[in-house]
Amino acid sequence: MKITVIGCGYLGATHAACMAELGYDVLGVEVDDRKRELLAAGQVPIYEPGLEELLAKHVASGKLRFTDSMEEAAAFAELHFVCVGTPQLPGSMGADVSYVEAAVTSLAPHLTRPAYVVGKSTVPVGTAARMSALLAEVAPVGAEAELVWNPEFLREGFAVKDTLEPDRIVLGVASERSEKVLRDFYAPILATGTPLVVTDYATAELVKVSANAFLATKISFINAVSEVCEASGADVVDLADAIGHDARIGRRFLNAGIGFGGGCLPKDIRAFVHRAGELGVEDAMTFLRQVDDINQRQRQRVAQVATAMVGGSVSRARIGVWGAAFKPDSDDVRDSPALDIAGRLHLRGATVTVYDPKANGTARDRFPTLEYADSAVEAARDADLVLHLTEWPEFRSVDIAEVSAAVRRKQILDGRNLLDLPAWREAGWTARGLGRR
Ligand code: NAD
Repeated sequence: MKITVIGCGYLGATHAACMAELGYDVLGVEVDDRKRELLAAGQVPIYEPGLEELLAKHVASGKLRFTDSMEEAAAFAELHFVCVGTPQLPGSMGADVSYVEAAVTSLAPHLTRPAYVVGKSTVPVGTAARMSALLAEVAPVGAEAELVWNPEFLREGFAVKDTLEPDRIVLGVASERSEKVLRDFYAPILATGTPLVVTDYATAELVKVSANAFLATKISFINAVSEVCEASGADVVDLADAIGHDARIGRRFLNAGIGFGGGCLPKDIRAFVHRAGELGVEDAMTFLRQVDDINQRQRQRVAQVATAMVGGSVSRARIGVWGAAFKPDSDDVRDSPALDIAGRLHLRGATVTVYDPKANGTARDRFPTLEYADSAVEAARDADLVLHLTEWPEFRSVDIAEVSAAVRRKQILDGRNLLDLPAWREAGWTARGLGRR
């Protein structure tokens, strides 16, 4: 079977390479020339563990090719996956679905034989129904061009594994025929026992944003509690361990710290609230505004604590920042809390030196005025304060003695609550976490 993958960013490049790994012939459609050329040469423009190997393997085997031509895409396959971005609209909380619309309207005129267009992008509820009508209207084959909504749940850092071994597959379908096509397509994954939920368009769209909203709520919940811990002398890590033993609650996503970021969670919860408003049920979702506010407050809180630690003003302070990516095992700095905090402190006059094992390049593109170092120790050189902001494992295993010899003042703030604070204190450091003793 042949497929196309339209939009080859984080989601699309991973989907394309993984589907080639499953044995399909894949044509990736990407409008960004630089990205497409890199991908066609077997190189991944992003850092995602295991992706480059997989992509290179299938570019070499010929199972994976890239183009910018929708005409070629329509001629190549009958199954087309739409993986384009849905960023936050400027000046609005809503999602920009114009890329999805553009993908559908540029593919559809070339669909002269029955085809299935499968949306994987995260979209506001109601988008699929609209795209389905648009597709049937524009495609020469009419209603024989069918839409399916198949939201994607992959996590950056685990994208390859999550694509090949997902927790579940969700299909929003309008006909038994399209359900069968997608069941057959995902048969190698379903054969391993992966749960499948087949539902309507609206539910499939809402599953994705609800999952993200729930995860965001869990993070903001523990961050709100961490403020109370801090005010009362309690320890949020012990607390999270204790409540996490309750199977109804679970320990995951209960790590208090600088909060969530990235290209998905923040914009997805905002778009959810916005869409609820359009549907006249905003009140039901107002709690998500607070989830977002708590998350933003964490960044402010860290900047405040950092300022206090360097004596009340950051101007003339040197701050070493460990981490720029929004999470480890990624170079994605979209709405990264780490980079946001680094930027805030820099804007207030601090000299900020950032080190991230993989994201120095993407961070420099976004924040060229920060300084960048090639190692954790170099970022800490002459610093008055070190901030641990992205939880890369290497920061937990740095040689404390070596860092001690590099800094001007032995002060560290653990924005991820993962460092061994007693070990740092033993080495003479003032070491703080968030909501920790
Ligand atoms: P991205 O910006 O990395 O990738 C989107 C790609 O689509 C870009 O390379 C862009 O050039 C390309 N594109 C845009 N319009 C196009 C068109 N008409 N034809 C061909 N290519 C086009 O975004 P992403 O992170 O991959 O996210 C894509 C979607 O997947 C979003 O809706 C996102 O919310 C969702 N999603 C992302 C993740 C993730 O971890 N990144 C996980 C699940 C879902």
